[in-house]
Amino acid sequence: MRSKSILFVDLDRTLFDTSRFVEAIRNELKLQFQVVMTTNEARNYYRYYEDLYDYDFFKHCQDRGVTSQQIYDCIFPELLIKYGSFLYEDVRSLLGTEFEIMTFGSEPYQSLKLKMAPELQDRAVTIVHERKGAYINREFKNVSVTLIDDKPAAMTGYSAGTFIHLDRAQKVPIINDESGIHIRSLNHTKEVLS
Ligand SMILES: [Mg+2]
Repeated sequence: MRSKSILFVDLDRTLFDTSRFVEAIRNELKLQFQVVMTTNEARNYYRYYEDLYDYDFFKHCQDRGVTSQQIYDCIFPELLIKYGSFLYEDVRSLLGTEFEIMTFGSEPYQSLKLKMAPELQDRAVTIVHERKGAYINREFKNVSVTLIDDKPAAMTGYSAGTFIHLDRAQKVPIINDESGIHIRSLNHTKEVLS
């Protein structure tokens, strides 16, 4: 049985600096395999779910001659040595607290990213292929759920729980009005939840 309340935190661009990771992995592919992968080319490997999409990174690599085995044997250890982790600094403020990860996307790619965040190794992870709001609606009928996500659309269709919008570009630290709760940094999570 799950507890009566759960805090879910999104992975991409909420906990995990996806842009930094993509840049780093592309650099490493170029360095080790002389393969240049662009965003334009990556779009051919997007799979759409309404307006959501995930990226079949490993298929993209394979078509460019780099196997998933090579990613794990050559690229992954090198990135760990060079970067250590791709989590944002403010994730530290959450590490001592209870939360689970809820992420949208393709399993192998999301798992690779999670491995690039060693601090999250023991966290429960739910990978969904639909809007998180719709998933939570169906799976957590009697549970009080809070979701922190950088995309407000993640919670479309879900009204019973609490949604915290993380907007790192926001000018003020916290906005809490009729439009909802918006925080500029994960450092403010405890404050808005108390
Ligand atoms: Mg996100």
